[in-house]
Amino acid sequence: GFHGASHKFIAERSAELLGRDDVAERARNLYVNAGASPVDGPDLRIVSCHMGGSSSITGIRNGVAIDTSMGMSPQSGLPQNNRVGDLDSHALPFVMRKTGLTADEAQEIMCKQSGLQGVSGVSNDLRDIAEAAEQGNERAQLALDLFVHQARHWIGAFHFDLNGIDALVFTAGIGENRSPLRADICANLENLGIKIDVEKNNNTRAEEAVISTDDSPVKVMIIPTNEELVVGREVKRFLDNR
Ligand code: AMP
Repeated sequence: GFHGASHKFIAERSAELLGRDDVAERARNLYVNAGASPVDGPDLRIVSCHMGGSSSITGIRNGVAIDTSMGMSPQSGLPQNNRVGDLDSHALPFVMRKTGLTADEAQEIMCKQSGLQGVSGVSNDLRDIAEAAEQGNERAQLALDLFVHQARHWIGAFHFDLNGIDALVFTAGIGENRSPLRADICANLENLGIKIDVEKNNNTRAEEAVISTDDSPVKVMIIPTNEELVVGREVKRFLDNR
C-alpha cells in the first residue's frame, strides 16, 4: 500500500528485535525474490501501525504483508490529517444531492478538508487537536475518539486474520510521539494478550522500545520508521540489476 516502504522496514526491524533473523532476512529480500524462502520457526505475526500525517495499519506474517487498511487510493482506512478515510459509499451521493456539490468539489473536500481536520474543525495536526480537546473542544475530542476507534478496528481485523499476534508496532509522527493515543488504542485488551506498561509508554518518544509489561504475551513496540533506507536499498538493487 501507500506506506509500503515503512511497513516493509517495520516487518524487517521488528523481526530483528524479536530475535527472528530468518524472518528479517525474508522481509529484506522480498522485492528481489517475491516467492521468498520459507521461514524455519513458528509464524511471526506483526501488526504495524504507521500513524502520521497519513496513517495505515498492516498485518504481516513472516515478513510478508497480508493486508493493509488503505485501498485503491490512500483515502481509505483511518482518518488522515485532512483526508477522509473510510466512508459509507452512500454518504457521498446523499451529501452531494443535499448540498448541490459537484463530484470535483466533493472530492476536493474529501482530499483537503476532511479527516482529522474536518472532524475537529481545529487543525490537521494532532498536537493542536489534542490541546483543543484538553480545553474542552468536543469536536477535537471526537476526532481523537474517531482515530482511536478506527485504529482498534483495523488492529482487531488483523489480530483475527493472523490468528493472534506476537507484536504490535507503533511508528511515524503520531505513533512514535503520542503516548496518550497509544494508551487509548491499547486500553482493555488484556484478554487479547496486549498489556501496556503505563510508565514505559509515557516515557518513550521516537526511540526503539518495548512499552508492554514484561508479562504481556504480545510485545507492544515503538520503532521509528526508516523509509529512506528502504528506498535507498531498492534504488541500489535496481542499479545493481541493470
Ligand atoms: P509524519 O507524517 O510521520 O511526519 O507525522 C506528522 C504528524 O505527526 C503531524 O501531523 C503531527 O500530527 C504528528 N506528530 C508529530 N510529533 C508529534 C507529537 N509530539 N505529538 C503528537 N503528534 C505528533
